[in-house]
Amino acid sequence: MKTKPQRYQCPHCKWDFALRKKRCCPGCGTLLLIGSDAFSDAEFTALGSFWMWEPLKERWVFIRDWEEHKQEAGRKFEEYFKSSRLSSGDTEEMRRPLREWIH
Ligand SMILES: [Zn+2]
Repeated sequence: MKTKPQRYQCPHCKWDFALRKKRCCPGCGTLLLIGSDAFSDAEFTALGSFWMWEPLKERWVFIRDWEEHKQEAGRKFEEYFKSSRLSSGDTEEMRRPLREWIH
């Protein structure tokens, strides 16, 4: 089975591309981050606001305030884990998405 490369559309200039240039849109240079980018929490904090790819929704979401977003994401995951723990048991596997998201 052949997998097509993921294509993205810049939220700023609507440029359609498969590869970014230095983590930026090749069209207008807007910083666009994908989950696999090895960014540290400190770097995200320094940036403050940026675009980030949301693979589940397949669209870019604008993070207006990283600190706030992180807390929000943490809360959501906590709730998710609390409810899922009841039905399927808490496993290390299920904790992984949180780490990948926050780094
Ligand atoms: Zn662009």
